[in-house]
Amino acid sequence: MAHKLEVQNVSYSYHAIEGETPALSDISFTADTGEFIAIVGPSGCGKSTLLSLLSGLARPESGLVLIDGKPAEQAKEAIGYMLQKDHLFEWRSILSNAALGLEIQNRLDPDSRSHLIQMLKTYGLEQFQDKHPSQLSGGMRQRAALIRTLALKPDLLLLDEPFSALDYQTRLSVCDDISSIIRETKKTAVLVTHDLSEAISVADRVIILSSRPATVKKVITLSFSQPSSKPSGIETSNLLSPMERRNAPEFSYYFNQIWKELKSDASSSQCADSV
Ligand code: ADP
Ligand code: MG
Repeated sequence: MAHKLEVQNVSYSYHAIEGETPALSDISFTADTGEFIAIVGPSGCGKSTLLSLLSGLARPESGLVLIDGKPAEQAKEAIGYMLQKDHLFEWRSILSNAALGLEIQNRLDPDSRSHLIQMLKTYGLEQFQDKHPSQLSGGMRQRAALIRTLALKPDLLLLDEPFSALDYQTRLSVCDDISSIIRETKKTAVLVTHDLSEAISVADRVIILSSRPATVKKVITLSFSQPSSKPSGIETSNLLSPMERRNAPEFSYYFNQIWKELKSDASSSQCADSV
């Protein structure tokens, strides 16, 4: 069976009058259904460019991006894209903000509306559905943005530094919240971040990119031993919450390993101050 996502030898450059900016060079990786992939790399290395290729908004210069075996631009309905800013509209209520994607795609009907209201309930926003974005905390706004994305029932979620606009404490709890929502709904997710701790606390695999033009430097599969309080006999790595992972003994081991990779790259590049 085809992978949920397959990236094959993808390269991409930006072209301007001043010249060419190579952003990605020969990137390959796959993600299977239910997998959570984190992509880390120095700022400016090409992470957002890579996500825009995965979303089908831009096409690779060479190589292929396949979703369920089909080119990404033919699979747009399967993709949900969440950005750093929540992009909620102040003049709309939280409910009507969350309904925006459905509205645009002409898919807002009594069924999808009740599914939306159920999600607002499940994720603690029921009492805020008639409020406006400025009346909510940063974390709640980010949850509303996620609900807007999930309402479209995408199979593949692309997350471009979705927590980085939040203060540290909110960020920890929203990261915890959102990654458990993604796990519960068994979505495949690709999270781009420059925050190593965030990557290690949520992902099954971390893909480390080099500085620009980005290449895949290393792929690290994360495995956390099961704490004694968890049930035995089943794969429990994925059951650890981000907060539990942060406290697990393996966490600092992975942190050091990824940090070393990024540092060795940064010391030989112009991005030295950005990791
Ligand atoms: P990251 O998300 O890792 O910070 P980006 O993918 O946004 O990096 O950008 C990668 C490189 O491509 C950067 O050097 C950036 O300046 C350049 N770049 C991004 N968008 C454009 C564009 N529209 N035109 C020209 N260069 C761009
Ligand atoms: Mg970016």
